[in-house]
Amino acid sequence: MQKNDVVTVTIEDIGVNGEGIGKVDGYTLFIKDGIIGDTVEAKIMKAKKNYGYARLMNIIEPSSYRVEPRCPIARRCGGCQLQEMSYEKQLEFKNNKVRGNLERIGSFAPKFLEQVMEPIVGMDEPFYYRNKAQFPFGADKEGNPITGFYAGRTHNIIANTDCAIGVPVNKEILGLILAFMKKYKVSAYDEKTGKGLIRHALIRYGFTTKEIMVCLVINGTLIPHSEELIEELRQVEGMTSISISRNIKRTNVIMGDSYKVLWGQGFITDYIGKTKYQISPLSFYQVNPVQTEKLYGLALEYAGLQGDETVWDLYCGIGTISLFLAQKAKKVYGVEIVPQAIEDARNNAKINRITNAEFYVGKAEEVLPEYYRKYGEEHPGEEAHADVIVVDPPRKGCEESVLKTMAEMKPEKIVYVSCDSATLARDLKYLRGKGYEVEKGRAVDLFPMTVHCEICVEMCRKK
Ligand code: SAH
Repeated sequence: MQKNDVVTVTIEDIGVNGEGIGKVDGYTLFIKDGIIGDTVEAKIMKAKKNYGYARLMNIIEPSSYRVEPRCPIARRCGGCQLQEMSYEKQLEFKNNKVRGNLERIGSFAPKFLEQVMEPIVGMDEPFYYRNKAQFPFGADKEGNPITGFYAGRTHNIIANTDCAIGVPVNKEILGLILAFMKKYKVSAYDEKTGKGLIRHALIRYGFTTKEIMVCLVINGTLIPHSEELIEELRQVEGMTSISISRNIKRTNVIMGDSYKVLWGQGFITDYIGKTKYQISPLSFYQVNPVQTEKLYGLALEYAGLQGDETVWDLYCGIGTISLFLAQKAKKVYGVEIVPQAIEDARNNAKINRITNAEFYVGKAEEVLPEYYRKYGEEHPGEEAHADVIVVDPPRKGCEESVLKTMAEMKPEKIVYVSCDSATLARDLKYLRGKGYEVEKGRAVDLFPMTVHCEICVEMCRKK
């Protein structure tokens, strides 16, 4: 296989970045925009020894799973990868991806997985589900301000204010900001030169409260004529919080380190189930509230709490899962690396009148082993014990020292919430070696139209 060769290939799978995967005489090709079941003509752009990248030239026979994308710019935009594949097929694909990784990386037998894995939880309406969006600003060729999304793997902005997975009110807000910029000649930030003012607009929407937050990230300390912009934005129904965040660094990090309220309050409120959360511009909060409730409900169900348990929630963020668990447990300890998140967690406990949750700032791989060691020192002949340990790590999964201490604390149950089935599989394999076995597991689709999903797994200590 060589560069510029044109081949006919059938797409059999989707890769980690959403590209179609097909084989020609055993040679693997990655083809962007190909979906499972398509037979396509593709031109090789880059040929490595065992695999290559090809460009989709022509769909010879469209897959029966192919659908018209909701969004006209779906192919160019880097936000979604699967809009051209039916939602049912997306769910099947994600379910298979999770099981495949559990088999391949976790060494689980397919028959066993058949018994313990429940079917993926999808959405009834898989569009307009995101409660948060961060829109970059730039300029078109004529110098007019634009906003939208980055094209896949680039920082070129594709103008679009009408994203099909964001909330509809985004369009109205972005329209007001763009009109304001034009009227007062307020410049957009240019990554190449480091000049210009408006970098990003963060918009958050509370699905249950209908409260809206707008935070403008700026390359400076103030926006000229900002009172005019505030006057416009506060007319939007539900507007609760308008702020700016200063970010003068030449980095890909979107938000600055702090924010300043221009109008209203510094946060919006939202509920997941009966639990109330205050979310500031810098807080981490799951982007799909409808599915988050199902995911946390599952974590709670798997934890099987009776009311007298001691529970640890590692990688707890703003305490979302911890506060869910605290209502059914004797005591919950949350551990999280970001100090502001722990501030939010403590505040969220307070506004929900939850008094049996305690939070530690630090790395899970330091806090937990340290707690275990100290406990042993202070209670000779005893070991620190937990009844249930919940973990929800970032994509890279848990460090071995965390898993080791978890097993040493001999919880009856471990509930593992994961956004990456490959590292999940690796970590489950380790825990199986320490006397735990998977009881149940289930994927929940928090990110329709993208390749991602969450997985929740219950492990029990073998007798
Ligand atoms: N359970 C929370 C957050 C999960 S996201 C929720 O559902 O809202 C993963 C969290 O792990 C993030 O908040 C991140 O800041 C935190 N984190 C990352 N590395 C960590 C580490 N080594 N120790 C503790 N927390 C960590």
